[in-house]
Amino acid sequence: MKAKDVLENLKRRFPNEPEYHQAVQEVVETIEEVYNRHPEFEKYNLIERLCIPDRIFSFRVTWIDDHGNTQANMGYRIQHNNAIGPYKGGLRFHSSVNQSILKFLAFEQTFKNSLTTLPMGGGKGGSDFNPKGKSNNEIMRFCQAFMTELWRYIGPETDVPAGDIGVGGREIGYMYGMYKKLARENTGTLTGKGIEFGGSLIRPEATGYGNIYFLMNMLKRKGISNLKGQVVAISGSGNVATYTAEKVLELGGKVITLSDSNGYIYDPNGIDAEKLNYVFELKNIYRGRIKEYADKYKCKYVEGGRPWGEKCTIALPSATQNELNGDDARTLISNGCIAVSEGANMPSTPEAVHVFIENKILYAPGKAANAGGVSVSGLEMTQNSIKLSWSREEVDERLKTIMKDIHDACVKYGTEGDFVNYVKGANIAGFMKVAKAMMAQGVV
Ligand code: NDP
Repeated sequence: MKAKDVLENLKRRFPNEPEYHQAVQEVVETIEEVYNRHPEFEKYNLIERLCIPDRIFSFRVTWIDDHGNTQANMGYRIQHNNAIGPYKGGLRFHSSVNQSILKFLAFEQTFKNSLTTLPMGGGKGGSDFNPKGKSNNEIMRFCQAFMTELWRYIGPETDVPAGDIGVGGREIGYMYGMYKKLARENTGTLTGKGIEFGGSLIRPEATGYGNIYFLMNMLKRKGISNLKGQVVAISGSGNVATYTAEKVLELGGKVITLSDSNGYIYDPNGIDAEKLNYVFELKNIYRGRIKEYADKYKCKYVEGGRPWGEKCTIALPSATQNELNGDDARTLISNGCIAVSEGANMPSTPEAVHVFIENKILYAPGKAANAGGVSVSGLEMTQNSIKLSWSREEVDERLKTIMKDIHDACVKYGTEGDFVNYVKGANIAGFMKVAKAMMAQGVV
C-alpha cells in the first residue's frame, strides 16, 4: 500500500470532501509501514475497506418554525465500520455540517472507539440545522422530525448515536422520546441521556475530564504531577471546553481563555470556579455568547479571533476542526507552550501537527485525548443492558483507567527514541485492532 496512491484514489472518487481527505491522509501516512508488514492486508484490500464507510444515509428533515414557516434541513448518518461492535458516534447540529465533515468524523471515530478497549464500531451523523437563536419548541420539533427518519437505521445492537456540537442533554432527550415512541422499545439506543432515564453519571463531564486525565498521563512521564503554575488556553465554551476548564481548576491550573464562533475572551486573572459557573449558566440556560463574560468581568474580548496568541504553557483546543493552524502552532511554541491536548476532533491543521511533532512538544491528537466521551457512552450502554447504574466514583475510576490505557497504547506504538509520537501511536494502536477484526470476519 502506498499512502499517496490511496489518497489520490479517494480524492478522485470522492472529490470536494477536504475534511475527509485530511483525516484519511493523517492515518494512512502513519500506518503505511505497519500495514505493509502484513501482506494479507493488501491481498484483501483492507485499506479501501477501512477508508470507505460501510454505508451513508441522507435524508430531508422537514419541520415548522415558530412563525409557521416550513423549514427543510439535511440529515445524515454515516455508518463507517462495525468490525468491533455496533456503530457508535455523535450527532452534530451545526450550519456547517456536510457529508465531508461527517465522513471525517466517522472515520476518526472508528479508530478512537477501537482505542477505548470497548466493543464499539465507528459512526457519526447530524444535520445542517442551526440551533442558534431557536426556541425550545423549535429545537424539540426539529429533533422529533430528525428522529422520524433516523430511527429506522439505529438500535441498541446496530448503531447507538450520542451528542456532539449542538447536541447536548436537551436534544438527546427529545430525540430519545421520539425514538422510543417509534421503535416501541426502551433499550437506551442513544447515549448522553438524562440520569432519570438511563443516562450515565459523568457522561456530560467525560470528554473534558478525560482529556485532562490523558494530559496528566503525558505530563507524568515528564515528572509533572499536577497543574500548579500551568497557564492554560482553552478554545470553545461548550460541553467539552467547560468541563475541561473545571478539571484544570481542580488540579491547580489557571485557565485564561474560552471562545465561541464569534470570538474569544482573555482573562489574565484566571477563570475561577465562580466565573466558570457563570459560563455554564450563560451557555446552558441563557444560551448566550462568550462576549457577555467580557462585559461582566471586564476583560479582553477579541471579535472573530482565536486564543492561541495568548501566552500559555498548555493549549487545549476544544471547539471545532481546523481551528489551530501552523502559525498558531509556532506562536504557541515560541510563547513557551509545552503541551497541546485536543478536546475537539481534528482541531489542528496538518501543518500545525507537523510543527508540534517537529518541536517535540507533548501533543495528543483528539482521537486519543477526547476518547473519554465515547468511553463513558460505552459504559452507559453497558449499564443500560445490565439495567443497573453505577456511582459517580465508579464511572470516574473506569474513565481514568481507560484514559491511562489509551495513553499507554500510544506510548507502546508511538515511541521513537526518547520521543513519543502520540499521533502515530494512536493511529497504529487503533488501526491494528480494527484490521485484525476485519481480517477475521472475511470479506464482507
Ligand atoms: P458544543 O456544541 O457544546 O460546543 C461547541 C463549542 O465550539 C461552542 O463554544 C461553539 O461556539 C464552538 N464552535 C463550534 N463551531 C465553531 C466554529 N466553526 N468556529 C469556532 N467555534 C466553534 O460542542 P462540544 O463541546 O460537544 O464539542 C466540541 C468539540 O469536541 C467538537 O470538535 C466535537 O466533535 C468534540 N468532541 C465532543 C465530544 C462530546 O462528548 N461532546 C466527544 C469527543 C469530541 P458557538 O456556540 O458559537 O457555536
